[in-house]
Amino acid sequence: MKTLDEHNRERKEEIKKLGLEPIKENAGVLCPKCQAEMYYLTPGLCFFEMGTTLPQTQVRCSKCMYEGSMTV
Ligand SMILES: [Zn+2]
Repeated sequence: MKTLDEHNRERKEEIKKLGLEPIKENAGVLCPKCQAEMYYLTPGLCFFEMGTTLPQTQVRCSKCMYEGSMTV
């Protein structure tokens, strides 16, 4: 059986792979670095970050490719 850390790492990789799909859904937020619009990397998919109880989803900047997690 794999550990929780291993599982989370694998899930992150899967989410990253899914993120390569050209689906662009506006997340309704601006990039903290360049103020451009951000898009959901994996629309409809969310995850729980360690140490939090709030579901998160990955978002990416349409301009500088900055990535972050957004509470949904
Ligand atoms: Zn940006």
